Amino acid sequence: MQSIPQSHFLYVWHLTMIIGAAIMLVAGIVIYILHKIRLSSISDPKDKYDYANQKEIKTYKLVFLCFGITAMLLINLYGIGKIFHVELWFFVRLFISIAGGTLVSYVAVLILDYYYPTLLDKKLRKWRYSPRVNPKTGGKMRLLGEEEEDVHLEKGMQAEENIFSIDYDVWIDENNGDVKIEKYAGHLQASKCNSCGFHTMKVVKEEITQQPTADTPGELIKHYQCSYCKSIRATAFKISNKEIDDYKTATLHSFRKNKNIALVRVEIHFDATGKKFFEFASLEQAQKFLSEYDSDQV
Ligand SMILES: [Zn+2]
Repeated sequence: MQSIPQSHFLYVWHLTMIIGAAIMLVAGIVIYILHKIRLSSISDPKDKYDYANQKEIKTYKLVFLCFGITAMLLINLYGIGKIFHVELWFFVRLFISIAGGTLVSYVAVLILDYYYPTLLDKKLRKWRYSPRVNPKTGGKMRLLGEEEEDVHLEKGMQAEENIFSIDYDVWIDENNGDVKIEKYAGHLQASKCNSCGFHTMKVVKEEITQQPTADTPGELIKHYQCSYCKSIRATAFKISNKEIDDYKTATLHSFRKNKNIALVRVEIHFDATGKKFFEFASLEQAQKFLSEYDSDQV
């Protein structure tokens, strides 16, 4: 077979595809590695949570966009040694490459939007509930329980709209009463949809059905909608009428001395399965349970 001189255009075209594919592949890998380095350089669990919650899915979409373009460019090299002039096949291949590249990116976006949030949620939970350390003393802090967990602390409410879609976690150092309050944006993080099982349930609307007063907590209704199957759900939350100082005075010492305790509720957060509640008639029973629970774990 006699060799046919390749058109200059095709030579430059193919060379561009090879170089472009290499650049896009490396770009995708570098973006991924930089994200991992940045994430592991953050030591505070709350900062880690915020960074991953805001950036991880967006970053991975960018990574897969790079890989999609890589695939598109590589498809344009198909039959490189066999064809030497721009003919119909050139445009057929070009069309297939665009379709192929789009498919890779589109499938990745679907996975990242509907499947990946379940995995991300597991990591986020781990960071949200991992024990906090008091930066001043190095002492362990305790997360306040269910009743207070979804409160919107008076002092934390700078403006009325701040109350919406914000969850506050209150950590207390029982040795000296130091309080650390962490803010979580409820509308950003999706929770699990009970209908379809994806982590695509997001807050779409909120209303205060009862304003908190000095004596009674208020009530806030959050309306959720699943962005995948469109099913809806509504949950009521208490709005705390307490202020941060109330938590500061609630040390373990004052708790132990209190003889009027009717019920002690222990709430345990698991990474995989969420929360479990245990109720006891006295503090002693609860302490006994906890010490045995610990030894079970070991
Ligand atoms: Zn759903």
